[in-house]
Amino acid sequence: MNPNDLKIESRNLIGGQWVGAADGGAFPVTDPATDRVVAQVPLCGAAETRQAIEAAQAAGPDWRSRTAAERGDLLRALADLMLRDRERLARLMTLEQGKPISESRGEIAYAASFLSWAAEEGKRLYGETIPAGHRDKRILILRQSIGVVAAITPWNFPSAMITRKLGPALACGNTFIVKPAEQTPLSAIALGELAQQAGLPPGVINIITGDPRAIGGEIFGNTAVRKVSFTGSTEVGKVLMRQAADHVVRLSLELGGHAPFIVFEDADIDAAVAGAMASKFRNTGQTCVCANRFFVHESVYGKFAAGLARAMASLRVGAGFDESVQIGPLIDDDAVAKVQSHVSDALDRGAKVRTGGNLVSVGAGFANRFFAPTLIDGLSADMRIGREETFGPVAPLRAFTSDDEAIALANDSPYGLAAYFYTRDASRLMRVAEALEYGIVGANDGLPSIAQAPFGGVKQSGFGREGGRHVMHEYTSVKYISWGLGPA
Ligand code: NAP
Repeated sequence: MNPNDLKIESRNLIGGQWVGAADGGAFPVTDPATDRVVAQVPLCGAAETRQAIEAAQAAGPDWRSRTAAERGDLLRALADLMLRDRERLARLMTLEQGKPISESRGEIAYAASFLSWAAEEGKRLYGETIPAGHRDKRILILRQSIGVVAAITPWNFPSAMITRKLGPALACGNTFIVKPAEQTPLSAIALGELAQQAGLPPGVINIITGDPRAIGGEIFGNTAVRKVSFTGSTEVGKVLMRQAADHVVRLSLELGGHAPFIVFEDADIDAAVAGAMASKFRNTGQTCVCANRFFVHESVYGKFAAGLARAMASLRVGAGFDESVQIGPLIDDDAVAKVQSHVSDALDRGAKVRTGGNLVSVGAGFANRFFAPTLIDGLSADMRIGREETFGPVAPLRAFTSDDEAIALANDSPYGLAAYFYTRDASRLMRVAEALEYGIVGANDGLPSIAQAPFGGVKQSGFGREGGRHVMHEYTSVKYISWGLGPA
């Protein structure tokens, strides 16, 4: 794939202008499948971030004075342009992120769906009146925009993790700056180009790439920023939470997961295998909601494990532009080292590899970053894979004997993002769903993410929700007006 075919814009968008770093600095974006440099993007810092914040602040009064329908029309136009350019955006995403091209196409549609959902939901930001406690008073509740919102986003969903914040932030009348991940800035920048084409006013969306500490320092140090929405690792989320304390900045944190996947003895095993495949191997195992620990009732363990091994054998590993591929490269060498260390640690602690377990070569000219889909028997809680997010195509299995044991194993984690289980018993379904300490539960469903539902975690997976009507609360403030009527 020749990057020039994609007409890549690689500058930053500040106040409607395409700009580089003030000192001309830049950093490379590489294709994780080949290590080829595909673009150079600005290495910006505090000064450029300050300009972006000022541009967002200046755009605020006009943007929030518009009607929800006017704002919604512009968001809808941006969603339509994303769908019009879906193939180009998908190719750009596979180029910088590596995910199989069919998944990139899927992500563009998914990303656009957050804009069109928010475009409509913005029209329903209803206030309230509350019966007052005095005859001569009235109580009114307004929901108002917050001001400048800053988003910091990860590399694993380069487009959707931005639109999930951008759509509701703008629909609620806020203006926006985003710092995308170092590995995947081009998808963010492409979104900025389309935003201009859609007619979004200058300064409403600003995109800044560069040094995360300098950019983050300015975001949290600048009192014009009233809200930060972060998606990324729990480790960085904790750092940002401390920084937010100085100016008491509102936060949403969408952090790491460590999803359990439970198969009860009455489960439809074929459906459970299909759900496991969808949950485990999307984005080559690099999603925050990927199943990371499989707990299978001892009476169906053999059947489930054999079915999963068969399904995994059909996965093709290779570069994302090959339409027949389902497993692409891991994002970088650190990711490879982490997956390898999780597997070797599990083996050292008594687990057995049933299939995979190693890097595979996919041909000359490709990086050594393609990890075979891996099935491991003998998962235990003392293994790294039993405690931490692996972020790779590795499925470790463990047998259990009772519902209580399965629930205890599933909840034995500091994380609480997504959990999955399969059963055909309706009573068990509700009991287990209620007992799982997770923000998202896939009950007989391996793919619960969708724009109209609230996505987010509990415990160290963060707080705040994205999607659904619930996300609108993240981007509005409640104002209570106590209205004294005076003498009649
Ligand atoms: P990450 O290392 O935490 O980075 C996320 C973003 O934070 C990047 O833009 C990064 O910039 C920036 N960043 C890093 N240090 C910073 C600092 N000190 N100040 C300000 N910004 C800073 O996470 P990642 O590796 O990109 O993403 C994978 C993680 O995201 C996984 O843990 C996954 O579970 C989680 N995730 C969660 C959700 C969810 O909805 N809960 C969704 C997707 C992913 P640079 O790239 O420039 O370093």
